[in-house]
Amino acid sequence: MRITIVGTGYVGLVVGACMAETGNDVVCADLDQKKIDDLKRNILPIYEPGLETLVERNQAQGRLTFTTDVVEAIKVSNVVFIAVGTPPDEDGSADLRHVLDVATLIGKHLTREMVVVTKSTVPVGTAAKVSKAIGAHARHPFHLCSNPEFLKEGAAVDDFMKPDRVVLGVDDDHARSVMAELYAPFVRTGKPILFMDIRSAEMTKYAANAMLATRISFMNEIANLCERVGANVDLVRKGIGSDSRIGSSFLFPGPGYGGSCFPKDVQALVRTASEAGSPLRVLEAVESANELQKRRLFEKLKRVLNSDINSARIAIWGLAFKPQTDDMREAPALTLIEQLLDAGASVVAHDPVAIPEAKRRLGNSIEYVEQNYDALIGADALVVVTDWNEYRHPNFERMRESLKRPILVDGRNLYDPRKMAELGFQYFSIGRGAE
Ligand code: NAD
Repeated sequence: MRITIVGTGYVGLVVGACMAETGNDVVCADLDQKKIDDLKRNILPIYEPGLETLVERNQAQGRLTFTTDVVEAIKVSNVVFIAVGTPPDEDGSADLRHVLDVATLIGKHLTREMVVVTKSTVPVGTAAKVSKAIGAHARHPFHLCSNPEFLKEGAAVDDFMKPDRVVLGVDDDHARSVMAELYAPFVRTGKPILFMDIRSAEMTKYAANAMLATRISFMNEIANLCERVGANVDLVRKGIGSDSRIGSSFLFPGPGYGGSCFPKDVQALVRTASEAGSPLRVLEAVESANELQKRRLFEKLKRVLNSDINSARIAIWGLAFKPQTDDMREAPALTLIEQLLDAGASVVAHDPVAIPEAKRRLGNSIEYVEQNYDALIGADALVVVTDWNEYRHPNFERMRESLKRPILVDGRNLYDPRKMAELGFQYFSIGRGAE
C-alpha cells in the first residue's frame, strides 16, 4: 500500500518506519526542514531503541522516504495518517490547529479515494471536525478512521510491531477493510484488532492514559502516607499487585509522571469532561496529586540540607522523564532543577542520552557530565530522578567517597535502605518507612 504520514515526530516516525518494514511504500512528511534533512541522512531527531536500524534499512530499500512537501505527499497515497502534535491549549484542552490544518490540506489535494487516519491523540468529536475540514474542499470520496496510538517511548518500535491491541474507529466498510489489511502483519500472534465507532476509539486513548496516570498518582499518595505511618510501600505494592484484579504494573511510586502524553491527556480529558457537564473528579485529583509529587524530591533535600540548600551543589542522575528515551517534556527533573536554581543551589547532571536535549532546554544554567560518577565530585547530595538501568548497581563506595556529604535522595527506590545506612549514606527514598 502507499501510505503518507503527516507529522514525523515521535509517533509519525515510528509508524512510518514500522509500516515500511512490513513492505508498504511510506512517505513521511513534516514542515520541519532540518528534521527531514537529517532523516534523509539517517540522523534521527529522537533516541528510540531499534528505530535507527529500521529507518536506515527501509530508506536504503526505497520503501521509506522523507519530504517537506506535504501536498505532494498527500497526492501520492491512498492512506494518510495525521500524526501531528496536539499540545495543550491555554485552558488545558487539546490544540487541534495542526490536525485541522492538515485535514484542510488533505481536502484540497485529494486526488483519489482515500482513507484518512487520525493517529494524533484527539478529543472525542474531533473526527467530525476533521471530516468537515476535508469535506469543505474534497472532490473525491474519503473515509475516516480514528486509530489512537498506544506505544510507549523507550519501547516504541516493539510496542508498534507487537501491540497488545489495535484500536480502529471506523464508520464504513471501506475504511475497515483497508485498515484491517494494513494492520494484519502486526497482529499475527492473535492480538486483537478492536473495531469500534469513531467516538469510542477517540475516548479509548484518553481513558487508557487517564487510568495509567491514576494508578501512578494513587501509588504516590499511598507511598507518601507510608512515610507518615511507618509502612513500606514496596511491600504494600507487592501485596496488592499479586491480586489478579489489580495486577502488578504501574504500581511503582516515584517523582510524579511526566512525558508528552500523561500530563496533557489528563488535562484534556478533564477539560472535555467539564465541558460535557460530567466532571471527572477522580482525574482532577490525579492531576493535582502529580503536581505536588513532582515537588517532593526538593522537599526531601530541603529537609536534610536546611538552609544549606541555598548554596548547595546538587548532583542529579537522570534527566529524561523515563529511561530509554531522551524526551524531557514535563520531566520531573525539570521541576526539581527549577526549584533548586530558584533556591540558589547549583546543579550538575548526568543522563545517558538526554544531555543534548537538556542543553537545548536549560542551556548553561546547570552543568553536565558525560560520566555519572563525575557529577558526584564535590556535590552536597545526589538525587536519582530517572531509573536508568545503569544506576541500579553503582559502586557505592566510589559514590560515598566522591560526594562531599553522603546524602542520597532516591526518587525511584532503586536501592536497599538498610544497605545504604550500613554504607554510611543518609538515604531517602519514596514511601519506605518513616524518614
Ligand atoms: P511531536 O511533537 O514529536 O511530532 C509532531 C510533528 O508534527 C513535528 O515534527 C511537527 O513539526 C509536525 N507538524 C506539526 N504541524 C504540521 C503540519 N501542519 N504539517 C506537517 N507536519 C507538522 O509529537 P508526537 O510525540 O509524535 O505526538 C504526535 C501525536 O501523537 C500527539 O497527538 C500525541 O499526543 C500522540 N501520541 C504521542 C505518543 C508519544 O509517546 N509521544 C504516544 C501516543 C500518542
